Amino acid sequence: MKLPFSEISQEARSFSYSGAGWFPEEEVECVGSPQVVITAGRKGKKVLLDGMLGFTALLSCDRCGKPVESMVEEEFEYIFTLDETQGAELAEMECSAEDCITVQLKEPVIDLGEMLREQVFLALPVKVLCDESCRGLCPVCGAVLKDGQCSCSDNGRYSPFNVLKQLRKEK
Ligand SMILES: [Zn+2]
Ligand SMILES: [Zn+2]
Repeated sequence: MKLPFSEISQEARSFSYSGAGWFPEEEVECVGSPQVVITAGRKGKKVLLDGMLGFTALLSCDRCGKPVESMVEEEFEYIFTLDETQGAELAEMECSAEDCITVQLKEPVIDLGEMLREQVFLALPVKVLCDESCRGLCPVCGAVLKDGQCSCSDNGRYSPFNVLKQLRKEK
C-alpha cells in the first residue's frame, strides 16, 4: 500500500481501505477487517495526512487469560517531508496536534502499510481485562475465579496455608 506524492493533490482528499493485507496479523489477532480512512493533501513540499483506524482485536485478559474482543479506534496525524527540505525549513515546521508524527522520506512515496502497522501497536490497549472486576486465577488451583468459586477455601485468596491445605488434601 504505497501512496506516491504525485497522487496527492493540493486539495485534501479522502481514501478508505477495508482490506487487511497490511495488518500485522502475526502479532495481533484481528476479528473481521480493519477499517481505515485517510485524508491527505499537499502543502508546498509537505504532505499533511490524517486518518482513522478501527479494528476489533482479539486479546487476552491480563489476569485470567480469557480471550477478550476489544474494539480499537485510533486517530492519527502525520506530516511527510522529503529529505531535501532538511534544515531551516524543518525547524520552522510546526505540528498543531500533540501526537502528530513527522516523517522524513527518502523518496516521495508514503508507505501506508508501515504507517498503519505503527498505529495498530500504538492503539492497542496497555491493560486488557475481560471484566473490570476480573479476579484472575486462583493462586492455589489455577481456576478462573470469575467462573465461580473453586474448591479452595478462603475464596481462593492467596495464603501460604492454602497451599499446605491443598497438599494435605492430595495426600
Ligand atoms: Zn479476566
Ligand atoms: Zn482454587
